[in-house]
Amino acid sequence: MVAFKLPLLLVLLHAVFGSAHRWFNWQFEVTCESDGYVAPHNEQAVANFLKNQYPNAPHIKVVGNGHGFGNLTTCVDTSLTQKKSFIVSLTNLKDISIDKTNMTVTFGAGWDVYDLIEELRANDLSFQNLGVERVQNMIGAASTGTHGSAQDLGNIATQIIGLRVLDAQGNLRIVNETMNAQELDAFRISLGALGLITEATIKVQPTTFFKRTTVVLNSTNDWNQFYTEMEQMYKEHERLTVWGPHFDYFENNKTWGLEPTYFASYWEPTNYTGARNCSDNYCANGCGNCKQNYFCYDEIAYANSCPPQGVCSHEFYAEIEHFFPIEEFVNVATNYTTYQQSQNSRMNTDYNGLVIYQWRALRGDSAWMSPVNTYNLGPESSGVFGIIEIDWLQSYNNFPALWDNQALADEFMPKFGEKFNARSHWNKMNPANATLIKELFPKLPDFLAIQERQDPQCQFVNEFLYTQLGIERCANYV
Ligand SMILES: Cc1cc2nc3c(=O)[nH]c(=O)nc-3n(C[C@H](O)[C@H](O)[C@H](O)COP(=O)(O)OP(=O)(O)OC[C@H]3O[C@@H](n4cnc5c(N)ncnc54)[C@H](O)[C@@H]3O)c2cc1C
Repeated sequence: MVAFKLPLLLVLLHAVFGSAHRWFNWQFEVTCESDGYVAPHNEQAVANFLKNQYPNAPHIKVVGNGHGFGNLTTCVDTSLTQKKSFIVSLTNLKDISIDKTNMTVTFGAGWDVYDLIEELRANDLSFQNLGVERVQNMIGAASTGTHGSAQDLGNIATQIIGLRVLDAQGNLRIVNETMNAQELDAFRISLGALGLITEATIKVQPTTFFKRTTVVLNSTNDWNQFYTEMEQMYKEHERLTVWGPHFDYFENNKTWGLEPTYFASYWEPTNYTGARNCSDNYCANGCGNCKQNYFCYDEIAYANSCPPQGVCSHEFYAEIEHFFPIEEFVNVATNYTTYQQSQNSRMNTDYNGLVIYQWRALRGDSAWMSPVNTYNLGPESSGVFGIIEIDWLQSYNNFPALWDNQALADEFMPKFGEKFNARSHWNKMNPANATLIKELFPKLPDFLAIQERQDPQCQFVNEFLYTQLGIERCANYV
């Protein structure tokens, strides 16, 4: 009997506390070694873990699905610290309740975007706004301000109306429209810095259908003309994403060439309820034939985003995504494109394949750490942001080529951040500069005050948070 019980006990202990665990992000280029991967089964177990560990002050990194381009979600590597370093995943917190009277959904932190969409669909409900993928954890996505493209809608964190959060000592804080309401704007986008979110409540809507129209357009390298035409499209379409220009690398003569065409998709609400067909011809991440004129109808999530199996190309890639007041659209777009082009000769390696631009737009919001926070905008601003994404995609996975592309990606913020009031997407390439971040995020001091209350011993701080946010009190966090 004893012989049977001991292994069982060990298995159970491992399930809760784990043993040394190496963490990787989605494309396996960001990694860290931890002392253990912890996946508690309910909120109480998470609280107990934090409370029991607090006297030893270990490093604690709460993770979603690691779908980022930088080291935001990385643990403190065991080689850098005398303390223990744990990775905590709340993937087992899978409670859910749907309130159709108030049109809200309350769900545990274990829900991934894909599964939540399916659950909502089964209950005749829809999200309002999504990114192009559904692979993220829902809290992980909200915590960095993940978004789609809609000038009248904010990012997905704006749908949050309530949260349950555990601080470093395992104390529960409820933040919603009636309790600690003044802190909702701090916790909606919290970068994993304010504690472990165990549950969220979001606003949803009845099943909504959209028509997606894709059009193929002709390119020109007269950037002023190219982007003036694109700006006009944004005036005509509330929900619009443009993929272009596209540049290809030619190995034979080591040059980059502009593709003659690019494409754009726009979405319109429709009362169509026939066959749902956007998934049949969805084009993202290199899947399907993207450059063709077509239209489709579907429930909003399916019309907007692609499921995990839609990730067809797994080249390494570097990426920037910057948000800027949309009034400067042509100027910003021309400057970024001209600079990227001027650096082409640095990228003349056969490992590189394609540089592609993606453009979106988003309504600004009041979350303190939102990249589209409106706190430093002048009265002349509409409060809508344009979004530029540049993707450097490789044809062959090669680390030095990736690092070179990342170094180039890091040059855009110092060059254009201050000039265009441009802010970076949190989980994407962004060089650390706490001084600039303070200008772009005027509520940062208030955020850091809450961070200190939630995490007095700097247990949630990693290199990203320390250097990007300038958390001076945590200078000795390792
Ligand atoms: C290929 C690709 C495509 C993408 N497309 C888009 C897009 O269309 N639009 C867009 O806006 N973004 C996009 N992103 C960015 C992506 O949505 C964000 O990086 C998102 O944060 C990733 O979610 P995740 O669950 O993988 O989070 P992780 O990277 O695991 O975590 C993100 C942050 O959330 C914190 N966190 C996670 N869970 C909790 C919790 N329970 N409590 C407290 N904090 C927590 C983590 O500590 C971390 O700080 C894309 C990324 C990739 C790689």
